[in-house]
Amino acid sequence: MAMTSDVVIIGAGAIGCAAAYHLAKEKLHAVVVDKGEVGREASWASAGIVSHASSGTSPYAQLCRASRVMFPALAEELRDLTGIDVEFHASGGLDVFFTEEEERELDGYFRAESSRGIAVEKLSAEELLRREPALTPAVRGALYWHEDAQVRTPRYVRALAHAAVRLGATFVLGKPVTEILTVGERVTGVRAHDETISAGATVIAAGAWSGQIGQLLGYPIEVEPCKGQIVLVETLPALLRHVIHAEDLYLVPRADGKLLIGSTVEFVGFDKRPTPEGVRTLLHRALEIVPALAQHTFVTAWAGLRPYRERGVALGPVPGREGVYVASGHYRNGILLSPITGRLIKEFIVDGTVSLNVEKFRL
Ligand SMILES: Cc1cc2nc3c(=O)[nH]c(=O)nc-3n(C[C@H](O)[C@H](O)[C@H](O)COP(=O)(O)OP(=O)(O)OC[C@H]3O[C@@H](n4cnc5c(N)ncnc54)[C@H](O)[C@@H]3O)c2cc1C
Repeated sequence: MAMTSDVVIIGAGAIGCAAAYHLAKEKLHAVVVDKGEVGREASWASAGIVSHASSGTSPYAQLCRASRVMFPALAEELRDLTGIDVEFHASGGLDVFFTEEEERELDGYFRAESSRGIAVEKLSAEELLRREPALTPAVRGALYWHEDAQVRTPRYVRALAHAAVRLGATFVLGKPVTEILTVGERVTGVRAHDETISAGATVIAAGAWSGQIGQLLGYPIEVEPCKGQIVLVETLPALLRHVIHAEDLYLVPRADGKLLIGSTVEFVGFDKRPTPEGVRTLLHRALEIVPALAQHTFVTAWAGLRPYRERGVALGPVPGREGVYVASGHYRNGILLSPITGRLIKEFIVDGTVSLNVEKFRL
């Protein structure tokens, strides 16, 4: 079959769906093509932390903050358009520390961030244990980030996709893109199994597979998969109230009483099986931090493939080609960064200029 659209987006993860949503709001017809289902890869596996992620004034920290502030209104818009509650919840986040060295390091962030007006507090061990009594008494204290939040990612991506469809977008699912169509240096669309989709602009948002799309294009997009495993336990009544970050672990208490324990960082290619070793490592560390977890219910474990790029997020037009853009390499913060990425892709395509300094993210 042959289709024609304004924009074709390769990948129906958080990034591709956010781009489709922003384009559809501008009345552009976007076709989103995926080899599988909507949001079933990294975006489904994610813990959904929408946090400060990066401190300071770097372009990356600014990108994170610009995206974080979009979430409350976006969650409302998605609820109005689709009836789906994405469970955006500003639960606050705690960076807990156990050693003098960890405390010194976090003190640096605390001073720098609070002097710039970021809502962060330093808590003593007593204050921390008053707020989170299930933490081990071995804790020395924490930084409390007031604006840290979480979102239920499978719902979030589904809501973005449904909202985009309501505004006119089309999804073509179960069809891998196998060819990028070109006329000279201009990209004119894609072939996906038996579909030919011609478009004025093409967006590569294929997550950990973006490097493979780069090969089809004949341009190196150096994104590789980084496996992350998560363990889910049920703690009723809830043991924790805030998202907890420790040096090599995070804990995300969900509103339904489930607790996510994440996550491993493994460079093992496209293998996304959860493993006994991964589960053991996560549970071992979680039990050190929250000993009472031992008596709660193990539910399941899963893994996903983060799009990792050594040079960081890749965002913008592909050099030397016309009509093709990349939005990938979001690594551990692709859910947090999805609203701003969707908006910037819309700005590149529709406005020709962007509202943030994105020089550092260009290919
Ligand atoms: C365990 C884990 C925990 C995480 N926790 C967080 C967190 O708390 N907060 C946060 O912000 N981020 C988190 N992340 C990172 C975040 O999930 C990713 O950065 C984000 O989901 C990337 O979105 P994406 O749309 O680029 O990729 P994906 O969601 O992987 O989507 C890419 C899509 O492209 C499709 N595709 C690939 N090849 C083709 C092809 N040839 N043709 C058609 N379609 C194709 C795939 O099927 C897929 O649906 C986590 C990731 C993992 C794995």
